[in-house]
Parts: sequence; C-alpha cells; structure tokens
Amino acid sequence: LTAARRAEGWRRFLPELPEVETVRRGLIPLLEGHTVTDAHLGHHCLRTPWPKDFTQRLKGQCLERLERRGKYLLFYTSVGRCWMTHLGMSGSFRYAPIASHTPTAHDHLTVYTSNKLVLSFNDPRRFGMMALWDKEDALPPTLARLGKEPLSPTFTGAWLHEAASQRNVPLKTLLLDQATIAGIGNIYASESLYRARLHPLRCSSTLTRRESSDLMMAVQQVLEEAIAAGGSTLRDHRHPSGDLGCFQHSFAVYQREGHPCPRCGKAARVEKIVVSGRSTFFCRRCQR
Ligand SMILES: [Zn+2]
Repeated sequence: LTAARRAEGWRRFLPELPEVETVRRGLIPLLEGHTVTDAHLGHHCLRTPWPKDFTQRLKGQCLERLERRGKYLLFYTSVGRCWMTHLGMSGSFRYAPIASHTPTAHDHLTVYTSNKLVLSFNDPRRFGMMALWDKEDALPPTLARLGKEPLSPTFTGAWLHEAASQRNVPLKTLLLDQATIAGIGNIYASESLYRARLHPLRCSSTLTRRESSDLMMAVQQVLEEAIAAGGSTLRDHRHPSGDLGCFQHSFAVYQREGHPCPRCGKAARVEKIVVSGRSTFFCRRCQR
C-alpha cells in the first residue's frame, strides 16, 4: 500500500456526527450526574498534549451534562468546566464495573466514577484529542470556528442557499467545510448529495432555493437515519456499551463504486472521483 492509499483507508473510518452522537447517547445514562472519583493517564499523549493538571482538575467534578458540537463530545461539569473529546481516527470509550475492569493496550485515560464504573478512552493511533477549560477561559479555537449544527432548527434551506451562494466551491467541499456546517465528513457528504440528486462537483453558487432546501432535508435525513442505526460500521470504533458495537448501516453510494445505482438500477453504476483529496461516490445519471 502506498502512503496515500493507506491514508485513504484510515480516513474511511473517521467518526462523523452520527457516530459521535451515538457515543454521546450511549454515555449519557452511564455518566450524567455522576462524579469523577479518580482519573489516570497512560504513558502517551494523544494528538495534542494532555491539558495541564488534567486528571487533578477532573477529579471531584460532577459530570452534569454531555453535549456534542460537530464531531466533539463536551462534558460540562458542576463547577463550569468543560471536558472536550475528539475521537480522532480510532478513539473509543469503553466502560466496565470497577470489579470487572481490566486495562487493555492503548487505554490512554481511565476515569473512575461515583457509580462504581470505569470509563477508558482507548485510541491505538492516538489521533484523538482532549481539552479541558474553565468557563472564564476562551473557547478552544477548534470549537470557536465551527459552523452551523446540521440538526439544529436554524439549519434551513434559506440559510444553506445563502451560505452556498457566497462560495464558488464544489458542493462536496462545501459540505465538508467544518466552518460552514459542523460534523459532516466524507461518508455523509456523499450520501447527502446522492439523496438530494446533486452532483458533488456542482458549483455551490449555482444552487437554487429549491435545491438548497432539498439538500438541507437530505443532510438531516441521512444524519438522522445513521444516528438511528447507531452510526456507521467503523473499524476500531466501539459502542460505549462495554462491548463491541454493531453499527450495521448500509450506504447508497459510499464505497459502492461499480455497483448499480440504487435509484437508476442497472442503467447506471456508482462512480468514484476525488474531490479535495477525498474519495467521492456518486451516480452520474441521477445527480446533477
Ligand atoms: Zn442514479
């Protein structure tokens, strides 16, 4: 495998909004309202260094609320701290009752909670990242520059039409731009454009109001269906229920190169092109 192919292979498994949301929903009943009684770091850092005094500042904190922004998980604690996690390429949370917890290779953070659980953050490739800040601190730049949440009520066809008309980029590039819309990655960009019958290379500024509305709805449907299905099948990506998650989710076009288009049948096959360095899957016949 060349480095580029290997990189593409890795990218295929990046968690996107639905996977992060699935993890959030899995963690809420385990952790919300419970206090961190102890925390330990492993020997390695993640993509970025551990926050200063990270485990000391987590200890004694009640995890009050678990939210999500784009692909980031955000734990808000009782004294107004925020613990942010990005799963990177291979990050996953696992939990076990204290009595049955066994550490495994690549556990980089272990957190003990007042309800007698052990939460481990496991990340073989260490592309994940964590941050911790107090409410008086500024937001980390990565969070401050995130764009619209696609499942929020303000993500409308009119808003998308305005955002698209101000740019001259392929629609695929627009959807991947985290400063415009937060949380969509390679998988759900291809799936949304297919659903909306829009060509990934179509210039964003040519999008009509009707098409913008169709794309908005397609994005929301695709994300909501994936969340309902428990996220996509991701290698190294575990459901935080303590065991291996079974994210069975089928895609219409993503990695379906050469297969018949689900809409056109045998009349057309799914094609693969590269847009902004990322594999893009579409049907030439029904996406314009
Ligand atoms: Zn088609």
